Amino acid sequence: MANQADERQNIIGDLQAWIRQNRDLGAEYYLDEGSRPEVIPVTAVVPEVAEAPAETSEPAAPTPAAAPTKPAPAKSAQTKRIQTKRIQTKPAPATDKEAAFRAICDHFVGETLALIKGQPAAGPATAEPLLETHAGDAAAAMAALKAEVLPCTACELSGARTNTVFGAGNPQADVVFIGEAPGQDEDQQGEPFVGPSGQLLTKIIGAIGYSRDDIYICNILKCRPPNNRDPQPFEVQHCEPHLKRQLAILRPRVICCLGRVAAQTLLKTDLSLGKLRNTVHFYEGVPVMATFHPAALLRNPSWKRDTWDDVRKLHALSEALQAEEG
Ligand code: SF4
Repeated sequence: MANQADERQNIIGDLQAWIRQNRDLGAEYYLDEGSRPEVIPVTAVVPEVAEAPAETSEPAAPTPAAAPTKPAPAKSAQTKRIQTKRIQTKPAPATDKEAAFRAICDHFVGETLALIKGQPAAGPATAEPLLETHAGDAAAAMAALKAEVLPCTACELSGARTNTVFGAGNPQADVVFIGEAPGQDEDQQGEPFVGPSGQLLTKIIGAIGYSRDDIYICNILKCRPPNNRDPQPFEVQHCEPHLKRQLAILRPRVICCLGRVAAQTLLKTDLSLGKLRNTVHFYEGVPVMATFHPAALLRNPSWKRDTWDDVRKLHALSEALQAEEG
């Protein structure tokens, strides 16, 4: 009996953690509207499980009178109901909305592959030669570059920094996320995307199957601008060579700019984020996508839905490029 109770508590805990994670990412869009097949049945399970008295009363039953009054058949029925619902979590047929998104995603990936191959395709982007291949050990090369960049004093931002924030992650990552510049938490810790926005970024990449060890994260500027102001042209001019050398080591399949400022600065454009999203761009020949900065998502949770679509496209593009390479 105790084992059954423990098992049910574990199931409830897993489901609640899973739902919290997806809600944090904006996946409630799919939960609410039923367009993501593998999610739909779970929304039906949790309220019933959470509200069932057997799940909450048993561990807390403190009095001798409480335990005998709970009829054993009720536990069996509850267990059966959970098992039945879990069986219903098999993928359901895709809804029209999910099918429409997949069609858009396929079109986006197809157009990007066509651009990379130099075939005629719509859009303003122009494929340039890929970055020079780094012949040596990527981890050693990245460590050497980091040691070179940390004491950099090429611009005035070096005077106010606590730490240079070089970047972190897999030096051979397929996907690189680039922000604009370190914030206060990053400056204090010397690591990119820490604090609440960094935690949200970890959840976002986790939702498409990546950990922070799978990807690489850095910023255009390696030192924090005062009061988190936008990067200035002089600072970008002096710091961008560091980024280019990082990318030459990484040779990523896809770059994802986090936020308007990062995208505009990297792509040398004044287009709005709304126009930069959903279109592929190129930086030194590497496909670039743009999406919202995690800090902006914390301020405007309604943008998580669009971010969720963006990162799914990012993942699909990375997978397609990997398949193309064989
Ligand atoms: S922001 Fe870049 S260029 Fe300026 S001091 Fe820091 S590392 Fe050097």
